[in-house]
Amino acid sequence: MTKAEAAHLSKLSAFGCIACYLDGNPGTPAEMHHPREGKGMSQRADNMDCIPLCPAHHRGTMHPVVPSVHLSPAAFKAEYGTEYDLMTKVRALV
Ligand SMILES: [Zn+2]
Repeated sequence: MTKAEAAHLSKLSAFGCIACYLDGNPGTPAEMHHPREGKGMSQRADNMDCIPLCPAHHRGTMHPVVPSVHLSPAAFKAEYGTEYDLMTKVRALV
């Protein structure tokens, strides 16, 4: 990992979950989601493309009450937009 990637990841981590932010709850502790849109199935996205998501929005720890990118991707996308949209938004915010 480069210095720039590490710095970006730490900014994303400090920002918190982007989905919670859009819900009006900024600053929720987040994990890093690696989007796979437009990438090969086994290929991890670049660290600069990460999206910060809390466990509920990332892995569905509150499924199905809270839509998550892994367990209910269609519901998640309807609520918050595509992974690409979220990545663009969070990059502009950090
Ligand atoms: Zn969240």
